[in-house]
Amino acid sequence: MENKRKILVFNSLAGEKQEFKPIQEGRIGMYVCGPTVYSNAHLGNCRTYVSFDVIFRFLKHLGYSVRYVRNITDVGHLLDDGEDRMLKGARLEQLEPMEIAQKYANGFHEMMRIFNIQNPSIEPLATGHIIEQIEMVKEILERGFAYEKNGSVYFNTIRYIQSGNPYGELSGRVVEDLMAESRDNLKNQDEKNHPSDFAIWMKASDEHIMKWPSPWSVGFPGWHLECSAMSKKYLGEQFDIHGGGNDLKFPHHENEIAQSVGSCGHSPANYWLHTNMLLLNGRKMSKSEGNTISPEQLFTGESKFISKAYSPMSVRFFMLQAHYRSTLDITDEGLQAGEKGFKRLMDALATSKNVQPELSSNSAPKDELVSEIIEQIYSDLCDDFNAPKAIANLFEMAGLINSIANKQIASTEISQYAWEKLKDHFSFFIIDILGLKDESSEANENTTNGLMQLIIELRKDVRERKDWAGSDKIRDGLKELGIQLKDGKEGTDWSRI
Ligand code: AMP
Ligand code: ZN
Repeated sequence: MENKRKILVFNSLAGEKQEFKPIQEGRIGMYVCGPTVYSNAHLGNCRTYVSFDVIFRFLKHLGYSVRYVRNITDVGHLLDDGEDRMLKGARLEQLEPMEIAQKYANGFHEMMRIFNIQNPSIEPLATGHIIEQIEMVKEILERGFAYEKNGSVYFNTIRYIQSGNPYGELSGRVVEDLMAESRDNLKNQDEKNHPSDFAIWMKASDEHIMKWPSPWSVGFPGWHLECSAMSKKYLGEQFDIHGGGNDLKFPHHENEIAQSVGSCGHSPANYWLHTNMLLLNGRKMSKSEGNTISPEQLFTGESKFISKAYSPMSVRFFMLQAHYRSTLDITDEGLQAGEKGFKRLMDALATSKNVQPELSSNSAPKDELVSEIIEQIYSDLCDDFNAPKAIANLFEMAGLINSIANKQIASTEISQYAWEKLKDHFSFFIIDILGLKDESSEANENTTNGLMQLIIELRKDVRERKDWAGSDKIRDGLKELGIQLKDGKEGTDWSRI
C-alpha cells in the first residue's frame, strides 16, 4: 500500500492546492460529469477524460480503492434556445431519442477505448435515475429551497443565498452577474421568481417525447439534477472528488452544490477538480466557427489544420504534455513534437526490454540517480497530478536507459538491481500510469490475426479439394512457426504453442 504519500490537489472550491484527505481511510469516491450523447465525442471531451484517467490510475496505484462514477447524460441538457440536446439530435437524424443516446454512447465508448481510457466503476444513465431525481426535487421543496410554478419546479437561489449559503463560491460569480447570465430554459424565464433561479423539474409540452410522471407534472428533470442524484446514490451525500471541464463550473457545478445543500444540508464533494479547455491554433475549438478538428480527422490526417495523420497514442501523449489545469493548444507543430517525444519514450522502452547488459552485482555510483528520478516522478504526480513534469523525468530515464544500453555508462557504474528497477518503473509509469501503449505491437497483432484468418480460409479450400498433403503442409509449416491449428465443430481456431 503506497497511500502514505501526501497528495496535493488543486481544489477549485478553495482556489488553491490542498492536501488530499479522503473521507474514509483507503477509499476514494470520484464523480466526473460524463458526456451528453447527442453527437460524436469531440477532442475536448477526450482531453478531459484522459486527464481523469491518469488521476484514476494513479490513485489506484497508490493503494486506494477508487469508485469512479462517470455518468451519461441522455436527457435534460438543454440548448440555449431551450430545446433538449437529445431531442434535437433525434429530430435532425430522424431517430428515436434513445437510438441517438445509444448511437453516441457507443461512439463515445469506442473513442474511450481508442484513447486507452479505463472504464469507470459505474456509468449511470440520467434516464435510468428519474425516480431518484424526483425524490431529490421533493427534498429540496420540503426544505423550502424550491417552488412550483405551472407544473415546473425551480430552485430558489435568493432564499438559498439569504439562508447564508454561498451561491457562486465555486465559479467566483457574484449574484448580479448570475442574474444577467442565467440562461437556463429561456422559454420559461417568466415563471421564475428571479432570473438566477433554475429549473429542477420541467413540465413537458405535448410534443415533448422524453417525459415522465411526477407529483408536479408529466415532465423531465433539469440537467444539473442528474449529477446530484446519481453521485448521491453511488457515492453518498458527501464524497471526495468531483471533476469535469472548467466550462461546467457555472452553472452546472454551482447548481449541483446548491441542490445538494438544498436537499441534504451539505456540499457534495470535498475537492473539485477542473480540467482546462482544448484550443485549436490558439482559439477555442468551436463547431459553429469551423475551428474544430475531430479525433477521426486527427487519426486520418484529413483536415486542413494538420499536415499528416497522428496515432491515438501520440495524441494521448501530446495531451499529457500539458498540465490538466492549463489550456492545451492543438497545433500541427505541437502534434509533431508530441509524436517524436512519444516515439523516443517507446524506443527507450523497447531498448530496455531487448538489451541485457551485464552490470555490477554490487551497488554502484549511478544507483542513487535511479532512485532519485523514480522518487521525483512520484512527487510530480503527487503534486496535483503533474503529468508534464513526470514526462520530463521519464525522458531523463530514457536517456539513462540508452546510455546503459550503448555502454556510455560503464557496467561498473550501475548495479544490475538498479537497472531492473529503472526498466520496471519506466515501463510501469508509461504503460500503467500514463496509460500509453505500444501501437506497433498492437498493429502487428492485428496483422497476425488477419493473416491467420486468411490462412485458415485457404486451408479450408485446400481440404475441400481433398488435397490432404497441401493441408498437412500448411499445418506443419505453421507448427514450425509456433502456431497450432485446432479443428472443431465451429471451424478452425489457432493459438501460439
Ligand atoms: P459535454 O458532452 O459537452 O457535456 O462535455 C463532457 C465533458 O467534456 C465535460 O466535462 C466538459 O467540461 C468537457 N469538455 C467539453 N468541451 C471541452 C473542451 N474544449 N476542452 C476540454 N474539455 C471539454
Ligand atoms: Zn454533471
